[in-house]
Amino acid sequence: MADSTDIAKPVPARPPDCDFTESRRRIEEASQWLPGGVSSNFRLGISPTPLVFERAEGAFLFDADGNKLIDYYLGMGPMILGHTPPEVVEAARQQMERGILYGGQSAIEAEAARLVCEMVPCAERVRFNTSGSEAVQTALRLARAATGRRTVVKFEGHYHGWFDNVLWSVAPPPGANAPVAGSLGQPEAAGADIVALPWNDLDAIRKRLQQGDVAAVIMEPAMCNAGAVPPLPGYLEGVREACTRTGSVLVFDEVITGFRLAPGGAQQRFGVTPDLATFAKAIASGFPVAAIAGRADLMDFCTAGVVHGGTYNGQAVAMAACVATLQRLRQPGVYDLMEQRGARLMQGIAAALAGAGIPAIVTGFPQIFHVAFGLTEPARNWTDLARMDRARYVAFTTALLRRGVRALERGAWFMSTEHDDAVIDATLDAVAEFCNNGRA
Ligand code: PMP
Repeated sequence: MADSTDIAKPVPARPPDCDFTESRRRIEEASQWLPGGVSSNFRLGISPTPLVFERAEGAFLFDADGNKLIDYYLGMGPMILGHTPPEVVEAARQQMERGILYGGQSAIEAEAARLVCEMVPCAERVRFNTSGSEAVQTALRLARAATGRRTVVKFEGHYHGWFDNVLWSVAPPPGANAPVAGSLGQPEAAGADIVALPWNDLDAIRKRLQQGDVAAVIMEPAMCNAGAVPPLPGYLEGVREACTRTGSVLVFDEVITGFRLAPGGAQQRFGVTPDLATFAKAIASGFPVAAIAGRADLMDFCTAGVVHGGTYNGQAVAMAACVATLQRLRQPGVYDLMEQRGARLMQGIAAALAGAGIPAIVTGFPQIFHVAFGLTEPARNWTDLARMDRARYVAFTTALLRRGVRALERGAWFMSTEHDDAVIDATLDAVAEFCNNGRA
């Protein structure tokens, strides 16, 4: 029973819900000039509105309404050292004073290349681009040049950029038995050389490779765009062996997993080395850097007839940011700490949801994990993920956002070195509040 002193105690003030009126107004205003008020379709359709930001630091974003948000988008993955990492900012600033774009080579570009080759198991050589989409195009061109074949095998639910020849079966409807275009305006002919298979199914890929006409097999080595689904034991090894046996080039698209799952990416974490691999995102803390790396004999086609270009490739400021980022990621203990904190967050979310009787599975890796509402078994592939309760999950992320926590509506949570214990506690408080109130 409450005594009189309890009654006299002030009830701690619950912080007010975040409001996003000003973001909404600015998006509407910007829609006069930018279709949808945005510059990427992946920033559209976010509940309650796409947000407009004014500043970012560490684990936090500061938006146009004055809200301070704990950020698990992290720029869609790149900000592995948190927002505005001081050593990266300083390296970029110093380089900017010495020149931005030389239209020629620089020592800092060679240094970035050396670091990638030292850190990534498959990387005997590397070339830089400015986006993951472009790096993927380079990989496919090299594979076709080297094999003299045209067919490319990809996997349902895997994303390799927005270009015509790869935007197939990224989110296919159940039962689709041919590649499904991801966009209006995509020519059917661009999908003529694409085969889309279910991932984590060794028999399916082995069978298809036996036809002997496949130039490249491209996959996210852990399926991270649609979820955070690890490869089944033996799957990557099996695909590796089948590619070698049938003369197909194995490409790991490590745009998300690279420099995130380990200093050497998923290939290091799982101990399977592809022929080529693509990188972006965590490689340069938000500066536009992507890379294609791999076997010297394949990469050297770049000097023997395969064209790889780009005005901004290896831009010096971005390369300085890349070197500063990789040097930090190479330091001992960086991944261990992220893993410990990320694991605590995963367990905390899973326990809170289970305690509230909300069916959900939290899977993946502490540095990128996935919260799938409505699943009772970990997903193995796109067909499993497609069974998620997306509407309920969006209600969850919308409620978290109102409590100052920004998590991607498709279920993936990105961690950074700056998400410390206090940030994780605050996140788990917001999750607990959702579970207690079920407020959307
Ligand atoms: N591949 C993968 C695995 C990706 O996650 C992405 C981006 N989400 C891309 C390619 C395309 O990269 P970008 O957006 O830099 O073109």
